[in-house]
Amino acid sequence: MTDLVVVTGAGGFIGGQLVRGLERQGAQVRAVDYKPLAHWFLQSDAAENLVGDLRDREFAFAATRGAQIVFNLAADMGGMGFIENNKAACMLSVLINTNLLMAAREYGVRRFFFASSACVYPDYRQQDADVEALKEAHAYPAMPEDGYGWEKLFSERMCRHFREDFGIETRVARYHNVYGPHGTWDGGREKAPAAISRKVAMAALGGKRDIDIWGDGLQTRSFMYIDDCLTGTQRLMQSDCREPLNIGSDEMVSVDQLVDIVEDIAGVTLRRRYQLDAPKGVRGRNSDNTLIRDVLGWAPSITLRDGMERTYRWVYDQVKARAEGRPFSGGIDHSAG
Ligand code: NAD
Repeated sequence: MTDLVVVTGAGGFIGGQLVRGLERQGAQVRAVDYKPLAHWFLQSDAAENLVGDLRDREFAFAATRGAQIVFNLAADMGGMGFIENNKAACMLSVLINTNLLMAAREYGVRRFFFASSACVYPDYRQQDADVEALKEAHAYPAMPEDGYGWEKLFSERMCRHFREDFGIETRVARYHNVYGPHGTWDGGREKAPAAISRKVAMAALGGKRDIDIWGDGLQTRSFMYIDDCLTGTQRLMQSDCREPLNIGSDEMVSVDQLVDIVEDIAGVTLRRRYQLDAPKGVRGRNSDNTLIRDVLGWAPSITLRDGMERTYRWVYDQVKARAEGRPFSGGIDHSAG
């Protein structure tokens, strides 16, 4: 019999695309999210789609019953603009992972995946733009991003203790900035690659000549294309690696360099207005991929230029469709496969 695989956060960016990938591999999937179905980025007709709030214990148990494998990607989250201003909401996601772990124990789930984040790494290691890449061991002594990062670090430890004390095989990925089509690109929760794509697309379509940039443009990050994220997630889930693992790109760029790439793809040059009082997060961040190469024999490799080509085209289509009053994604895409 085929395993039943539960994917939570399936109406979101990564979860929606994970459901598709699992279905292509022949898995039987239960997709769970609290957004109304019409707002899921991707929706599969083949999956069992469940709508409900996983902070509610009873619903979390119902969502897990009968499953052998759980991927927990549900969290109240967004880019810096969201997490700096919604710390309590971010921390309440602790209920989601805790309920799901308790349900996994109750129903004998074989493997449990938790989507953690580079936001677990301490501020004191990320104060220069020319930063040393973050190794997994750098998470301690702990001083994560306030709110969102503390929740992720606590939930990582819950996974560890449920494995040690109750024998549930848990796997934890620390994702570093994931981007790509079929994600949040507007509304306040979007991250830099989508936000910059939207601003450049709006300028290109509307004939504007300037762009607002959060910070001074010199802060650094690495960005991982969604396909690498999905490959890494599945490889980690199938591996023996029981410790939290970075899944991120190690191609570090400044925000200005990211804007250069998008402008080049769009064929425009814009005057940059730096907003120095906007949320900026840490000064520099990069992923050290030594451990992932050692344990999985693989690491993310899709270049930022290639990933942004695909992302910009998709965001451009959304911006154009909205400007023309046509339906755009963020609604339903039934073109499974
Ligand atoms: P997303 O916001 O697109 O998806 C998360 C989904 O979880 C949303 O559809 C939301 O409706 C759902 N959700 C939130 N609270 C819920 C609840 N109480 N009950 C049921 N569903 C709920 O985010 P994403 O980018 O797909 O991220 C997926 C996971 O990966 C999250 O845990 C996130 O913290 C983590 N992560 C993402 C990134 C990134 O760059 N995208 C980086 C690090 C970690």
